[in-house]
Amino acid sequence: MAASGYGDLLGKVIAGADWMIAGALGIETIEPTAWEHSQHGLRDWTADPLALRRREPRALYLLIEGLLMAGLSMQAARSSRPASGSEHLFSHLWEMEGVHRGSDVPSHGFQVGLGTIAAAALAEKLVMRDLTTLHGASVQAAWRGWEQVEPEVRRSFSDPRVAASAVEESKAKHLTPAQVRGRIAAIRRAWPELQRSLWSQLRPVEELRVMLAAAGCPTTPEELGLTRAELQRDYARARQIRTRYTLLDLAAETGLLDTLVSSLFTSDGFWGLPG
Ligand SMILES: [Zn+2]
Repeated sequence: MAASGYGDLLGKVIAGADWMIAGALGIETIEPTAWEHSQHGLRDWTADPLALRRREPRALYLLIEGLLMAGLSMQAARSSRPASGSEHLFSHLWEMEGVHRGSDVPSHGFQVGLGTIAAAALAEKLVMRDLTTLHGASVQAAWRGWEQVEPEVRRSFSDPRVAASAVEESKAKHLTPAQVRGRIAAIRRAWPELQRSLWSQLRPVEELRVMLAAAGCPTTPEELGLTRAELQRDYARARQIRTRYTLLDLAAETGLLDTLVSSLFTSDGFWGLPG
Protein backbone atom coordinates (compact mmCIF):
# COMPACT_ATOMS: atom_id res chain seq x y z
CA MET A 1 0.00 0.00 0.00
CA ALA A 2 2.71 2.48 1.01
CA ALA A 3 4.80 1.69 -2.07
CA SER A 4 1.77 2.15 -4.29
CA GLY A 5 0.98 5.51 -2.67
CA TYR A 6 4.58 6.52 -3.17
CA GLY A 7 4.36 5.74 -6.91
CA ASP A 8 1.32 7.96 -7.25
CA LEU A 9 2.90 10.76 -5.19
CA LEU A 10 6.22 10.79 -7.05
CA GLY A 11 4.18 11.15 -10.26
CA LYS A 12 3.49 14.76 -9.21
CA VAL A 13 6.96 15.62 -10.52
CA ILE A 14 5.66 14.87 -14.01
CA ALA A 15 2.14 16.23 -13.42
CA GLY A 16 3.75 19.54 -12.39
CA ALA A 17 5.94 19.62 -15.51
CA ASP A 18 2.92 18.93 -17.71
CA TRP A 19 0.95 21.71 -16.03
CA MET A 20 3.89 24.10 -16.52
CA ILE A 21 3.90 23.30 -20.23
CA ALA A 22 0.13 23.82 -20.62
CA GLY A 23 0.40 27.06 -18.61
CA ALA A 24 3.34 28.46 -20.59
CA LEU A 25 1.55 27.81 -23.90
CA GLY A 26 -1.66 29.49 -22.71
CA ILE A 27 -3.67 26.25 -22.93
CA GLU A 28 -4.51 26.23 -19.21
CA THR A 29 -3.78 28.55 -16.34
CA ILE A 30 -1.78 27.55 -13.30
CA GLU A 31 -3.91 28.01 -10.19
CA PRO A 32 -1.37 29.22 -7.57
CA THR A 33 -3.01 27.68 -4.47
CA ALA A 34 -3.37 24.32 -6.16
CA TRP A 35 0.21 24.49 -7.40
CA GLU A 36 1.46 25.30 -3.92
CA HIS A 37 -0.53 22.43 -2.36
CA SER A 38 0.66 19.79 -4.79
CA GLN A 39 4.25 20.90 -5.45
CA HIS A 40 5.68 22.83 -2.53
CA GLY A 41 6.34 19.87 -0.22
CA LEU A 42 6.98 17.29 -2.91
CA ARG A 43 10.73 16.92 -2.40
CA ASP A 44 10.28 16.41 1.37
CA TRP A 45 7.33 14.04 1.00
CA THR A 46 9.26 11.79 -1.38
CA ALA A 47 12.78 12.22 0.03
CA ASP A 48 13.27 8.90 1.81
CA PRO A 49 11.74 5.88 0.02
CA LEU A 50 13.95 3.46 1.97
CA ALA A 51 12.55 4.72 5.28
CA LEU A 52 9.08 4.23 3.83
CA ARG A 53 9.93 0.66 2.93
CA ARG A 54 11.08 0.14 6.52
CA ARG A 55 7.70 1.56 7.57
CA GLU A 56 9.24 4.31 9.64
CA PRO A 57 6.42 6.44 11.09
CA ARG A 58 7.94 9.73 9.90
CA ALA A 59 8.11 8.50 6.29
CA LEU A 60 4.53 7.17 6.43
CA TYR A 61 3.39 10.51 7.85
CA LEU A 62 5.06 12.40 4.99
CA LEU A 63 3.50 10.07 2.40
CA ILE A 64 0.02 10.56 3.82
CA GLU A 65 0.51 14.32 4.07
CA GLY A 66 1.61 14.43 0.42
CA LEU A 67 -1.35 12.39 -0.79
CA LEU A 68 -3.79 14.52 1.22
CA MET A 69 -2.28 17.71 -0.15
CA ALA A 70 -2.57 16.35 -3.69
CA GLY A 71 -6.25 15.73 -2.99
CA LEU A 72 -6.67 19.28 -1.67
CA SER A 73 -4.90 20.69 -4.72
CA MET A 74 -7.43 19.00 -7.00
CA GLN A 75 -10.27 20.54 -4.98
CA ALA A 76 -8.63 23.97 -5.18
CA ALA A 77 -8.24 23.66 -8.95
CA ARG A 78 -11.61 21.90 -9.41
CA SER A 79 -9.72 19.58 -11.71
CA SER A 80 -7.38 16.61 -11.48
CA ARG A 81 -4.81 18.67 -13.42
CA PRO A 82 -2.51 19.43 -10.43
CA ALA A 83 -2.12 15.75 -9.61
CA SER A 84 -2.50 14.01 -12.95
CA GLY A 85 -0.43 14.46 -16.10
CA SER A 86 1.17 12.20 -18.68
CA GLU A 87 2.22 9.68 -16.01
CA HIS A 88 -1.50 9.10 -15.34
CA LEU A 89 -2.29 8.88 -19.05
CA PHE A 90 -0.05 5.79 -19.16
CA SER A 91 -1.74 4.31 -16.07
CA HIS A 92 -5.26 5.10 -17.37
CA LEU A 93 -4.41 3.37 -20.64
CA TRP A 94 -3.10 0.27 -18.87
CA GLU A 95 -6.08 0.21 -16.52
CA MET A 96 -8.56 0.50 -19.40
CA GLU A 97 -6.84 -2.33 -21.25
CA GLY A 98 -6.51 -4.52 -18.16
CA VAL A 99 -2.74 -4.89 -18.04
CA HIS A 100 -1.79 -7.86 -15.89
CA ARG A 101 1.01 -10.30 -15.29
CA GLY A 102 -0.45 -13.74 -14.86
CA SER A 103 -3.25 -13.32 -12.35
CA ASP A 104 -1.51 -10.31 -10.81
CA VAL A 105 -3.05 -6.90 -11.59
CA PRO A 106 -0.60 -4.15 -10.65
CA SER A 107 -1.99 -1.48 -8.33
CA HIS A 108 -2.88 2.00 -9.60
CA GLY A 109 0.17 3.48 -7.87
CA PHE A 110 2.51 0.92 -9.42
CA GLN A 111 1.13 1.74 -12.86
CA VAL A 112 1.55 5.47 -12.20
CA GLY A 113 5.11 4.77 -11.02
CA LEU A 114 6.02 3.13 -14.32
CA GLY A 115 4.18 5.92 -16.16
CA THR A 116 6.32 8.40 -14.24
CA ILE A 117 9.52 6.72 -15.40
CA ALA A 118 8.23 6.52 -18.99
CA ALA A 119 7.26 10.20 -19.04
CA ALA A 120 10.47 11.29 -17.31
CA ALA A 121 12.62 9.43 -19.84
CA LEU A 122 10.92 11.34 -22.67
CA ALA A 123 10.93 14.65 -20.76
CA GLU A 124 14.68 14.37 -20.27
CA LYS A 125 15.19 14.12 -24.03
CA LEU A 126 12.70 16.85 -24.85
CA VAL A 127 14.02 19.43 -22.40
CA MET A 128 17.47 19.21 -23.96
CA ARG A 129 16.14 20.35 -27.34
CA ASP A 130 16.26 23.92 -28.51
CA LEU A 131 12.65 24.58 -29.50
CA THR A 132 13.29 28.25 -30.32
CA THR A 133 14.63 27.25 -33.73
CA LEU A 134 11.55 25.31 -34.85
CA HIS A 135 10.39 26.33 -38.32
CA GLY A 136 6.65 26.91 -38.24
CA ALA A 137 6.10 26.58 -41.99
CA SER A 138 7.95 23.24 -42.11
CA VAL A 139 6.05 21.81 -39.15
CA GLN A 140 2.80 23.00 -40.73
CA ALA A 141 3.72 21.41 -44.08
CA ALA A 142 4.38 18.05 -42.39
CA TRP A 143 1.26 18.24 -40.18
CA ARG A 144 -1.38 15.64 -40.89
CA GLY A 145 -5.06 16.49 -41.05
CA TRP A 146 -7.63 14.86 -38.77
CA GLU A 147 -8.96 12.73 -41.66
CA GLN A 148 -5.53 11.01 -41.80
CA VAL A 149 -5.12 10.77 -38.04
CA GLU A 150 -8.56 9.42 -37.14
CA PRO A 151 -8.22 5.94 -38.72
CA GLU A 152 -4.80 5.59 -37.15
CA VAL A 153 -6.18 6.40 -33.67
CA ARG A 154 -9.06 3.98 -34.22
CA ARG A 155 -6.70 1.18 -35.25
CA SER A 156 -4.49 1.72 -32.19
CA PHE A 157 -7.02 0.27 -29.72
CA SER A 158 -8.43 -3.24 -29.94
CA ASP A 159 -11.39 -2.54 -27.62
CA PRO A 160 -13.96 -0.67 -29.77
CA ARG A 161 -15.25 1.36 -26.81
CA VAL A 162 -11.76 2.53 -25.91
CA ALA A 163 -11.14 3.29 -29.60
CA ALA A 164 -14.33 5.37 -29.88
CA SER A 165 -13.45 7.33 -26.75
CA ALA A 166 -9.86 7.91 -27.93
CA VAL A 167 -11.15 9.21 -31.27
CA GLU A 168 -13.32 11.80 -29.48
CA GLU A 169 -10.59 12.86 -27.07
CA SER A 170 -7.94 13.09 -29.78
CA LYS A 171 -10.22 15.02 -32.10
CA ALA A 172 -10.88 17.62 -29.41
CA LYS A 173 -7.20 18.55 -29.22
CA HIS A 174 -6.13 17.94 -32.80
CA LEU A 175 -4.91 21.17 -34.36
CA THR A 176 -5.59 22.35 -37.89
CA PRO A 177 -2.48 23.16 -39.97
CA ALA A 178 -3.05 26.90 -39.33
CA GLN A 179 -3.40 26.27 -35.60
CA VAL A 180 -0.23 24.22 -35.46
CA ARG A 181 1.68 27.12 -36.98
CA GLY A 182 0.36 29.37 -34.22
CA ARG A 183 1.24 26.76 -31.61
CA ILE A 184 4.82 26.55 -32.89
CA ALA A 185 5.11 30.34 -32.59
CA ALA A 186 3.84 30.11 -28.99
CA ILE A 187 6.33 27.31 -28.20
CA ARG A 188 9.24 29.33 -29.64
CA ARG A 189 8.29 32.35 -27.54
CA ALA A 190 7.74 30.39 -24.35
CA TRP A 191 10.65 27.96 -24.60
CA PRO A 192 13.58 29.88 -23.03
CA GLU A 193 11.69 30.44 -19.78
CA LEU A 194 9.74 27.17 -19.94
CA GLN A 195 12.92 25.18 -20.51
CA ARG A 196 14.50 26.71 -17.38
CA SER A 197 11.35 26.00 -15.35
CA LEU A 198 11.29 22.40 -16.55
CA TRP A 199 14.96 21.90 -15.67
CA SER A 200 14.19 22.87 -12.09
CA GLN A 201 10.93 20.90 -11.89
CA LEU A 202 12.11 17.64 -13.45
CA ARG A 203 14.50 15.13 -11.97
CA PRO A 204 16.78 12.76 -13.86
CA VAL A 205 14.85 9.67 -14.90
CA GLU A 206 17.48 7.41 -13.36
CA GLU A 207 17.05 9.18 -10.02
CA LEU A 208 13.26 8.66 -10.16
CA ARG A 209 13.75 5.01 -11.10
CA VAL A 210 16.07 4.43 -8.13
CA MET A 211 13.64 6.16 -5.76
CA LEU A 212 10.71 4.04 -6.95
CA ALA A 213 12.77 0.85 -6.70
CA ALA A 214 13.82 1.81 -3.16
CA ALA A 215 10.16 2.21 -2.18
CA GLY A 216 9.41 -1.25 -3.58
CA CYS A 217 7.66 -0.20 -6.80
CA PRO A 218 8.11 -2.04 -10.11
CA THR A 219 10.35 -0.10 -12.51
CA THR A 220 10.32 -2.20 -15.68
CA PRO A 221 7.47 -2.83 -18.14
CA GLU A 222 7.93 -6.61 -17.74
CA GLU A 223 7.01 -6.38 -14.05
CA LEU A 224 3.62 -5.00 -15.13
CA GLY A 225 3.16 -7.58 -17.87
CA LEU A 226 4.18 -5.30 -20.76
CA THR A 227 6.85 -5.89 -23.38
CA ARG A 228 9.29 -3.14 -24.37
CA ALA A 229 7.58 -2.99 -27.79
CA GLU A 230 4.22 -2.42 -26.10
CA LEU A 231 5.64 0.32 -23.91
CA GLN A 232 7.17 1.98 -26.99
CA ARG A 233 3.80 1.95 -28.76
CA ASP A 234 2.06 3.28 -25.64
CA TYR A 235 3.79 6.69 -25.75
CA ALA A 236 1.62 7.62 -28.75
CA ARG A 237 -1.46 5.82 -27.42
CA ALA A 238 -1.33 7.41 -23.97
CA ARG A 239 -1.49 10.79 -25.68
CA GLN A 240 -4.60 9.74 -27.60
CA ILE A 241 -6.90 8.76 -24.73
CA ARG A 242 -7.42 12.16 -23.10
CA THR A 243 -7.62 15.79 -24.19
CA ARG A 244 -5.30 16.79 -21.34
CA TYR A 245 -2.27 18.62 -22.78
CA THR A 246 1.04 17.13 -21.65
CA LEU A 247 4.65 16.80 -22.71
CA LEU A 248 3.45 14.03 -25.05
CA ASP A 249 1.53 16.69 -27.00
CA LEU A 250 4.45 19.10 -26.95
CA ALA A 251 6.67 16.36 -28.38
CA ALA A 252 4.06 15.40 -31.00
CA GLU A 253 3.27 18.95 -32.13
CA THR A 254 6.95 19.78 -32.55
CA GLY A 255 7.35 16.65 -34.69
CA LEU A 256 9.77 15.07 -32.20
CA LEU A 257 7.68 12.36 -30.53
CA ASP A 258 8.59 9.42 -32.76
CA THR A 259 12.28 10.30 -32.93
CA LEU A 260 12.67 10.85 -29.19
CA VAL A 261 10.69 7.75 -28.23
CA SER A 262 12.66 5.60 -30.71
CA SER A 263 15.89 6.87 -29.18
CA LEU A 264 14.78 5.56 -25.78
CA PHE A 265 14.51 2.02 -27.13
CA THR A 266 17.84 1.69 -28.96
CA SER A 267 20.43 -0.59 -27.30
CA ASP A 268 22.01 2.37 -25.50
CA GLY A 269 18.67 4.13 -24.80
CA PHE A 270 16.96 4.24 -21.40
CA TRP A 271 14.59 1.41 -22.34
CA GLY A 272 17.20 -0.47 -24.36
CA LEU A 273 17.21 -4.15 -23.57
CA PRO A 274 19.07 -4.78 -20.31
CA GLY A 275 22.46 -6.47 -20.48
ZN1 LIG B 1 -3.48 8.45 -9.21
